[in-house]
Amino acid sequence: EDDLALLDLDEDDLDDLHGPAALPVLAVVGRPNVGKSTLVNRIIGRREAVVEDKPGVTRDRVSYQAEWSGRQFTLVDTGGWETDVMGIDASVAKQAEIAIDLADAVLFVVDATVGPTATDEHVVRLLRRAKKPVVLCANKVDGPRSEADATELWSLGLGEPHPVSALHGRGTGDLLDAAMKALPTETAHGVARADGPRRVALVGRPNVGKSSLLNKVAGSNRVVVDELAGTTRDPVDELIELKGVPWWFVDTAGIRRRVHQTSGADFYASLRTQAAIEKAEVAVVLVDASVPMTEQDTRVIQQVVDAGRALVIAYNKWDLMDEDRRKYLEREIEKDLVQIQWAPRVNLSAKTGWHAEKLVPALEHSLENWERRIPTGRLNAFLGELVAAHPHPLRGGKQPRILFATQVSTRPPRFVIFASGFIEAGYRRFVERRLRETFDFEGTPIEISVRVRE
Ligand code: GDP
Ligand code: GDP
Repeated sequence: EDDLALLDLDEDDLDDLHGPAALPVLAVVGRPNVGKSTLVNRIIGRREAVVEDKPGVTRDRVSYQAEWSGRQFTLVDTGGWETDVMGIDASVAKQAEIAIDLADAVLFVVDATVGPTATDEHVVRLLRRAKKPVVLCANKVDGPRSEADATELWSLGLGEPHPVSALHGRGTGDLLDAAMKALPTETAHGVARADGPRRVALVGRPNVGKSSLLNKVAGSNRVVVDELAGTTRDPVDELIELKGVPWWFVDTAGIRRRVHQTSGADFYASLRTQAAIEKAEVAVVLVDASVPMTEQDTRVIQQVVDAGRALVIAYNKWDLMDEDRRKYLEREIEKDLVQIQWAPRVNLSAKTGWHAEKLVPALEHSLENWERRIPTGRLNAFLGELVAAHPHPLRGGKQPRILFATQVSTRPPRFVIFASGFIEAGYRRFVERRLRETFDFEGTPIEISVRVRE
């Protein structure tokens, strides 16, 4: 941090550089059409209209980084799945259940012009049982005359209803103030909690073998939680001992419940995946090796990278592979994973247990690199040599120079390079590649940002 002082950076710059570590999670819950998406859009300041009059439009993004009064948090939009098969009541209950699992506080939205419905009351019961902080939003209070509608919602027994018009922005400031009071400063399951067992998420699209692998590794290795003093337990996580070392397998309830078999499958799956990744320090993305890789596989991998978590890719169902398929697959993998050649791969079979023991060393290796810190001196010596041997191409007769670099965080490693001019994307990639080659960053995303100092 002393180096940063030299560069004349203030606290905000620093926050900015460190990025989101483990932001508390606020989940927006409520019946279809009460205005959840409108509210989410307003909070994150999104302009484009993703709101549709028709309920049940599946959106693929579910979590956003938001900020209010200088506090950052993760906002989870649980609206947007199909209700046709399950029926509204069951589907909203399901949504609330997931939101409760993954949130640190819940923003419960009710349509004040309709008043409390039986479904709303059902959700209230679930929320009460979960004992998470709840802030009640009485939405569609577009003007002073409809404030009376909001007071009716006292009857839900969740405390003060906050009258809001998500559409026009009325009352959203007060609502967010209340939400910030309810939201703990740290998430209950964030990566910031470095002590205790490591947290790993098993993710991947439906049917790749997550629950098979979980059962295989769990076997008789499940740890009775009381054995481990001082750990707070989230009921959706399981503690599993592997070679004498306990690991938290996060959100295994999501795997065991086989959420993908219900309607709105993709949406639940993606919500669960997101939640699991955010809780974990390292993610194992399972891929079915016996069939070609799909866009959905790539998307899960991308989710891990975007979340900045350590990564291991496991090619499962290896028992189904014959010699031909294996040869073919090697070529295929090269192509599919060209963007993330840094991710370690393990070929295994959850069914037979073949190579399952290779998983732990891969996880440990990725985690070690995820936490790697390169001393500023070494980093600049490396860059000095690199730049001398391979200078940045001339731009308009000028040569942008790298002045200084520092690693501002670990978990994952983030670097800031200070340069005398714009550094081209190609050159950045070159620097990243060399950085990865020189220091071992296998299994971790790394982030390099460039600041131009005149
Ligand atoms: P969701 O299904 O809960 O995500 O609800 P949406 O955000 O999609 O909103 C459903 C409908 O209610 C849309 O037509 C919105 O324009 C409308 N709506 C949302 N908030 C308000 C509000 O504060 N006032 C009024 N009058 N309409 C709103
Ligand atoms: P999940 O949806 O990702 O949890 O996948 P499951 O664990 O439920 O597995 C989906 C299907 O693939 C089941 O029929 C499993 O028996 C099968 N399966 C899982 N792992 C393997 C494996 O390593 N080899 C073979 N041959 N089948 C597997």
